[in-house]
Amino acid sequence: MIETLYLIPHMQITEIYKSIQGESSYAGLPCVFVRLTGCNLRCSWCDSEYTFTGGQKMTLEQVEAEVEQLSPDGGLVEITGGEPMLQEKEVIPLMDRLLNSGCTVLLETSGERPLDKVPREIVKIVDVKCPNSGEPDTFRMENLDALTLRDEVKFVLSDRVDYEFARDFTADHKLGGRVGSVIFSPAFDKQAGGGRDTSHCLLDPRELAEWMLADNVPARLGLQIHKFIWDPAMKGV
Ligand code: SF4
Repeated sequence: MIETLYLIPHMQITEIYKSIQGESSYAGLPCVFVRLTGCNLRCSWCDSEYTFTGGQKMTLEQVEAEVEQLSPDGGLVEITGGEPMLQEKEVIPLMDRLLNSGCTVLLETSGERPLDKVPREIVKIVDVKCPNSGEPDTFRMENLDALTLRDEVKFVLSDRVDYEFARDFTADHKLGGRVGSVIFSPAFDKQAGGGRDTSHCLLDPRELAEWMLADNVPARLGLQIHKFIWDPAMKGV
């Protein structure tokens, strides 16, 4: 019996909650977030450091039941972290289960882990880390082959150097025709709290907009709208 219990796959989960999707082309929609514990990167502006450790062990059945309780009729679910693909062995079966129950499933990932085993029906939202993220050159170039028009690539930018990197990467790898959306998003001050305004952006969205327009970049400017709805320091939203 004890041996059987050890064989049941568990995931390390930081939190499961329902909120408004704040990023991507799905921004503004109600969404259930399954936030996995652990990350192998340390981005300088990371707002999810509380996911690096802790959390609780849950079986796939427990995760699925909690998602269903929050969103009984399917709907949008995002698997995020931390870096969810660090738990690939458990997270792929979870994706299959959620897809089978009729959910639209987003995967938010750093782009550092292999993505070739992710089911094609999953919407992959993949970061390419920029020079000032503290984790440059971590994007796994083979992941470009796993991307489809269903997927999205996101660059989080904190200055002009990051912007030029993102602009050139987008052009060099023809991302405009490879994925459904390319997103340029200003980094947000991870210490921000209180005011819900763009003063917390490390790169002024207006400046970014002007650069994108001047260069005809085939990308959308993304703001993390949950940080303008709630206090930017708030967790679980
Ligand atoms: S990959 Fe994501 S969770 Fe990991 S350090 Fe970077 S921003 Fe934070």
